[in-house]
Amino acid sequence: MRTIGLNLGSNLGDRREMLSFAVERIGTLLGCRLRVSQIYESEPWGYQSDNPFYNIAAEFESDIALERLLDLLQQVEREAGSLSHRTADGSYADRSLDIDIIYAGSEVVATERLTVPHPRMDRRLFVLKPLQQLSPRWRHPVSGLTVDEMVAALESEADSERKGAVDC
Ligand code: ADP
Ligand code: MG
Repeated sequence: MRTIGLNLGSNLGDRREMLSFAVERIGTLLGCRLRVSQIYESEPWGYQSDNPFYNIAAEFESDIALERLLDLLQQVEREAGSLSHRTADGSYADRSLDIDIIYAGSEVVATERLTVPHPRMDRRLFVLKPLQQLSPRWRHPVSGLTVDEMVAALESEADSERKGAVDC
């Protein structure tokens, strides 16, 4: 068994209800209990929208193959009525439920369908901050950084960008 970490996000409809539906449904489909973080609210990342996101981290122990887990998570996204996450030109769009696999123990996967650890996890505070509540010392198998260290690096980068803006 290894620990699997997910990130769940919603920026449409009853966001809190979407997240609790998903946690409950994933637990039922996998037959296990999920540990969940508090909700982290953030502005949309990588595109413009007036609808802020609610994000949570969720963790559980499982032997499930990751491709099968992805199938199951996409089924839950569909059940939640999530429309396509992308607009016609391929950019990001609002979504009622998005579920990403962030890590699975120290496994490294890079296939057409799946990249684990999630390739943008170290750039996203809405992934790192909730995950920090559950597993601050989990270590990225490629970079060797812990969640605490990734948060510190990203926050200090954001700080120096703010200071740079004041200095100009
Ligand atoms: P994002 O999650 O980056 O906001 P999407 O949810 O629109 O974007 O992307 C969905 C696609 O990402 C899926 O078709 C899936 O095959 C692919 N994907 C690759 N790696 C992962 C991962 N670690 N977790 C979830 N989906 C992934
Ligand atoms: Mg996704």
